[in-house]
Amino acid sequence: MAETSESRQLLEALARWVGASCPDCLEPLCDHGVLCAVALGLKDLPRCLNCATKGLGRDLVATKNHLARWLAGKDCYLRAWAKADSARCKTPCPLSGLLQEAEIPDEAELAFERTDEKKNDAPMLVHDFGDMGCGDLVLELRQKLRGVAPGAVVRVIATDPGAPEDIPAWLRMVGHILLKAAPPIYDLRKRLDP
Ligand SMILES: [Zn+2]
Ligand SMILES: [Zn+2]
Repeated sequence: MAETSESRQLLEALARWVGASCPDCLEPLCDHGVLCAVALGLKDLPRCLNCATKGLGRDLVATKNHLARWLAGKDCYLRAWAKADSARCKTPCPLSGLLQEAEIPDEAELAFERTDEKKNDAPMLVHDFGDMGCGDLVLELRQKLRGVAPGAVVRVIATDPGAPEDIPAWLRMVGHILLKAAPPIYDLRKRLDP
């Protein structure tokens, strides 16, 4: 993805949404709030970070750490964030310290998150769901993943015709990483956050 188009999208989202109300709590969105929403994939209907986190069923602190790490790796977001810090937020903005407050990621953990193709991607567990329909499959998979360590790689085998769309979509929504999709085989890494 070209940095320029990502950065343009970001500026468009800021121009469009800063000052608009969060659709859930009706608080106005500041630059920081819009940046977080865009980073979470909500650029078409941004919510404030509290409501977005609740909506995604995530933990707020874990999401903040995750966002801070993610923002720190993207020049266009960092530039926009620096601008947001000097901008029109009402003070004190609870988000302005996000990058400073976040836990400093340790190198080992970062390396772990980045090695998508490396040795520790050999699946530790295999679940064959046969031709189970995707609704049931997702429920069952969620149940199985409860007993799996964070960061573990799990191979799912599913022949349902909806699986190539539904499995990646569900993983994205709940925050697990899809390592490989070669229907009927899907390798995923369980997310590190609680
Ligand atoms: Zn809200
Ligand atoms: Zn702000």
